[in-house]
Amino acid sequence: MPKLRFDILTLFPQFFASPLKESLLQKALAKDLLEINLLDIRDFGEGPHKKVDDSPFGGGEGMVLRVDVLSKALSSVKRTKNSQVILLSPGGTRLTQKLAAELVQKEQLILVAGRYEGVDQRFTDLFVDQEISIGDYILNGGETAALVVLETVARLVPGFVGKEKSTQQESFSVFELEGKKQMLLEYPHYTRPAEFQGQKVPEILLSGNHEKIKKWRHETAFEKTKKVRPDLLD
Ligand code: SAM
Repeated sequence: MPKLRFDILTLFPQFFASPLKESLLQKALAKDLLEINLLDIRDFGEGPHKKVDDSPFGGGEGMVLRVDVLSKALSSVKRTKNSQVILLSPGGTRLTQKLAAELVQKEQLILVAGRYEGVDQRFTDLFVDQEISIGDYILNGGETAALVVLETVARLVPGFVGKEKSTQQESFSVFELEGKKQMLLEYPHYTRPAEFQGQKVPEILLSGNHEKIKKWRHETAFEKTKKVRPDLLD
């Protein structure tokens, strides 16, 4: 599998500085498991002030990112064969674990972070393969959303998380018990001390009986999912 490459088009490249220097993302970059390129949209702006936006035709509040500027920025990205251009947008397809599992199969993900009122629709129509939203709320800009997509997809890259199994048995994974497959939230975890402020760890987890523990975990995951996210069981 070729190394997954992310190209992020943003007006705020520094936004990504700290997350890329910390923890697993930093380790993955050091191990050369993935490549991340940050591209400053401002570098492709018009005139002495490097203007990247303008007021909307038809009037209204705010500014819109210009199609010519964004198109120039996108053209400067070296493309691989299996690449996908993603615009972060509240009006996009909702990011799910399933979508992340599809995206990790690509060779290159080009993430475009909008700002202000958003981007000129012609950029979306001409160049964008998929619009992705991280939820039904409005952020100041696409950078936070791009980081969420980056982190969710990156941790599915083989070797990113120490033990591969841990990404296969998390919330939103499909769990199978006695031939039945279900998308569930994860079961609860416990660690030492075995008792804290009168709260004891469920006895079964201390029993050493792996079959029974597996069944208990499945049942508690099911009960939790039924209670807080019944939609997942549909
Ligand atoms: N006027 C836009 C609307 O009502 O849909 C919102 C623009 S928002 C202030 C600026 C940028 O933030 C968007 O272009 C998009 O890139 C990003 N953004 C905001 N909320 C988002 C979300 N829930 N998911 C993904 N991107 C989001």
